[in-house]
Amino acid sequence: MPKTDYDVIIIGAGTAGLSAGAVLERSGMDYIILDKKREIGLPVRSTGAVSMEWVKRIGMPTDSSIVSANISSMSFRTDKGNSINLNFDRTVGIVYDFTAYEKFLSSKFAGNLNIRMNTRVNSVEGNTVYTDSGSYVGKHIIFAAGPQSNFGKKLPRNEVLVAYEEIRKASPRADYQMVLWFSDMAPGGYFWDFADKGGRRKIGVCYYPTEGKSPKEVLDRFTEKYPEISGECIDTMAHQIPLGEPAPSVTSGSYLYTGDMVNAVLNTTAGGLQGAFWTGKTAAEAVIAGDHSLYQKKWDEEIRPWLLKHHRLHRRMHRKGVKSISRLMTLAKIMPMSVKKKVFGGL
Ligand SMILES: Cc1cc2nc3c(=O)[nH]c(=O)nc-3n(C[C@H](O)[C@H](O)[C@H](O)COP(=O)(O)OP(=O)(O)OC[C@H]3O[C@@H](n4cnc5c(N)ncnc54)[C@H](O)[C@@H]3O)c2cc1C
Repeated sequence: MPKTDYDVIIIGAGTAGLSAGAVLERSGMDYIILDKKREIGLPVRSTGAVSMEWVKRIGMPTDSSIVSANISSMSFRTDKGNSINLNFDRTVGIVYDFTAYEKFLSSKFAGNLNIRMNTRVNSVEGNTVYTDSGSYVGKHIIFAAGPQSNFGKKLPRNEVLVAYEEIRKASPRADYQMVLWFSDMAPGGYFWDFADKGGRRKIGVCYYPTEGKSPKEVLDRFTEKYPEISGECIDTMAHQIPLGEPAPSVTSGSYLYTGDMVNAVLNTTAGGLQGAFWTGKTAAEAVIAGDHSLYQKKWDEEIRPWLLKHHRLHRRMHRKGVKSISRLMTLAKIMPMSVKKKVFGGL
């Protein structure tokens, strides 16, 4: 009979679940990660862009084998002609090869994690986790099942962005390694062009799906306007990004909630990898310490305030669509370059 009793059960092998698993693996704790998908890192669910400052601060991996591109120049634009252009003398961001990154977290970062794939969790009652292939019992349960899973609350349409990306065959841009455009064609979000490896670029869009147009249509229309981002599409990915206020509470009895499930997403950039990694790690540390309130405390004192700051700024940025962003960009223009670099380079 396979073992079914564990100290810790983690639901979801994305960034949050793998980061929690890595901490538990290093501490020698008895845990299992359950995931419904077939393979770690697939399907791809993220562009994989993260700020170096945060990567270092929270200990995310930087192994060269999992990095597709280094970012040292970036441009933020509106389709009304505003722009903020920044060139750094160092790498301020990296773009992960997302599949390699998740595989690395699962096998090399802290050793081989104990993961059972092809295992969909259908429900959790008390300390029992019911899956398609039997039930498990855990003293602690870390929920890391991502946005809109069968465990999270369903988010209203104005609190979740649809995000769609095409990997396009295209030579590297001559000007910037990362360009973001704000436009009323992408309400609440933006269009992006990120450097990738091997003659490819990651071109995408995220927005509140209020108009009923498919993300592909929206991206195609934008590409007509900006042919500089055109190129043969060789792969696509789409998913959702929760963009609401970070949850007030992240623990309840023997349960700990992490990542997209608690809106640990920087609303300004729609980046959730750092929040997922940080919450997964902190939740696992609290489990090891035998005190879940340590996770809630760190959430209240450090993680949530950081997320809230971005949540409020996002509201301000998008209050009147691209008009508000143009105004903020005009204000940002008068900032000294050193301040601009600190603000935009550390997002
Ligand atoms: C197109 C796009 C681009 C993005 N780009 C960036 C970016 O450049 N930078 C950035 O920082 N963030 C980006 N994000 C956001 C980021 O990818 C997410 O915030 C992050 O992946 C969330 O991690 P997570 O571990 O919380 O959830 P997920 O990565 O979604 O992992 C959840 C896991 O739980 C599993 N699961 C779900 N339900 C069950 C169940 N019932 N039973 C078992 N397993 C289950 C899933 O299979 C999955 O493996 C992007 C998102 C999208 C959609």
